[in-house]
Amino acid sequence: MYYEERNRHQPVTVFIDEVEVTLPTRWAICSTCSGDGKHSLHHGAFSGQRLEEAQHDEDFWEDYISGQYDKVCDSCEGTGKVREVCEEKLTPEQKQALQEDRDFEDEQYAERRAEYMMSGEYLAEIRGY
Ligand SMILES: [Zn+2]
Repeated sequence: MYYEERNRHQPVTVFIDEVEVTLPTRWAICSTCSGDGKHSLHHGAFSGQRLEEAQHDEDFWEDYISGQYDKVCDSCEGTGKVREVCEEKLTPEQKQALQEDRDFEDEQYAERRAEYMMSGEYLAEIRGY
């Protein structure tokens, strides 16, 4: 979900009747990197022909496998853990406020994404320039 974009180390707060409330959270293993704190730069970038070519280049492949091309995980910023809202501890008001927040963020993300897709940057990306 788009919601994953949020900075996942900050306390999660919502506004209820204009008062900011911090929601109960716990640390969970980051699902993006399974707690490693990093993932391969080219993860999923190779398929079919390109994968075979990459594997043929032994030096490259060794480096790749050993993590030389890994990058810090965006979701957890390399810590391997993320804050997760303890939904079962939320009051109905908190739940609703959180849902509204998420819907709002999803909308914002969709808008940003739509703008980006109409920009030259995106065209360059998909054409591989
Ligand atoms: Zn991660």
